[in-house]
Amino acid sequence: MKIDRIETFLVPPRWLFCRVETDDGVVGWGEPVVEGRAEVVRAAVDVLAEYLLGQDPLRIQDHWQVLTKGGFYRGGPVLSSAVAGLDQALWDIAGKTYGAPVHALLGGPVRDRARVYAWVGGDEPTQLAEQISAQVEAGFTAVKMNAAGATSPLATVAETAAVVARVSAAREALGPYRDVAVDCHGRFTAASARRVLTELAPLHPLFVEEPVLPEHGHLLPGLVAASPVPLATGERLYSRAEFLPALAAGIAVAQPDLSHAGGISEVHRIASLAETYGAQLAPHCPLGPIALAAGLQVAFAAPNFLIQEQSRGIHYNKDADLLSYLVDPEPFRFVDGHAHRGDAPGLGITLDEAAVRAADRTGHRWRNPVWRHADGSFAEW
Ligand SMILES: [Mg+2]
Repeated sequence: MKIDRIETFLVPPRWLFCRVETDDGVVGWGEPVVEGRAEVVRAAVDVLAEYLLGQDPLRIQDHWQVLTKGGFYRGGPVLSSAVAGLDQALWDIAGKTYGAPVHALLGGPVRDRARVYAWVGGDEPTQLAEQISAQVEAGFTAVKMNAAGATSPLATVAETAAVVARVSAAREALGPYRDVAVDCHGRFTAASARRVLTELAPLHPLFVEEPVLPEHGHLLPGLVAASPVPLATGERLYSRAEFLPALAAGIAVAQPDLSHAGGISEVHRIASLAETYGAQLAPHCPLGPIALAAGLQVAFAAPNFLIQEQSRGIHYNKDADLLSYLVDPEPFRFVDGHAHRGDAPGLGITLDEAAVRAADRTGHRWRNPVWRHADGSFAEW
């Protein structure tokens, strides 16, 4: 069996899908994308496809080595995401070839359902309580929210109070025994984060995510030591090597993205690395159905899985949502806040190929907003 054809599809709301077909007619799907840079990743996939065409698709690990390291220059979001999407597609092909779900090929299931969380609130939510009530009604036992909008490098008393007030409102709406995770999006400096983390502790967040930017990862050891709440990070880390210092710093939760951190192959290895530090796995996934399916396959095989992000109804999903390109939404029918393990081969989902091709004709030009502080200077989004 040989890889015969590799195509990419730029589809709303902000995704890029890839489709890999073999000369036997087996088709695998992947989601190689960096949010806001989809066209750049598409070009990277086109370059990597030159190597894969004509190759045996079942040599996944060998292809991962060559695609990741064979170009001499390596790493970073664009190349790692291009490899990630192709890796997902190759695992999908392997599963369909062997008649097994990917988690069976990763060593077999270690759980029968995987906890997922829902998003509430954009960056300036006005109806947090109503949104939380709706998610609780839908069965979710955990939600995630942004901590703050644009925040001064040294958060003011008003900004700090606003963060605490928003998380307090969420805690009140959730009640004492459902979970809230708080995403800082790297908008705090370490000094601000230390103060905010202390004030959030009485609200018992499940974890606080990206308290500082990835380039300030060298400050994580001090932050972990000062933090009374578990810290999470990883959506902007792209390999085991980049997770190693964060794990050694003592983060509680590793959040690799299946579409950024080298795909199923590398995220499964990151999970194992995290296990040696007693850290839990909570894959980042504000993306589409293929990335989520890949995350769930790892979730069913990784002993230290904690919870999976998913994008249904997320504020980014305009013009299309998680289920828009699926023939059957059943794999993402969450019951009691959990996705249930299926036995369909490969990634376990079936794409509506006609819908994908039609959507690609429209495409998208999604870009994240550029924020400014009140004085006109650049603000982290
Ligand atoms: Mg995040």
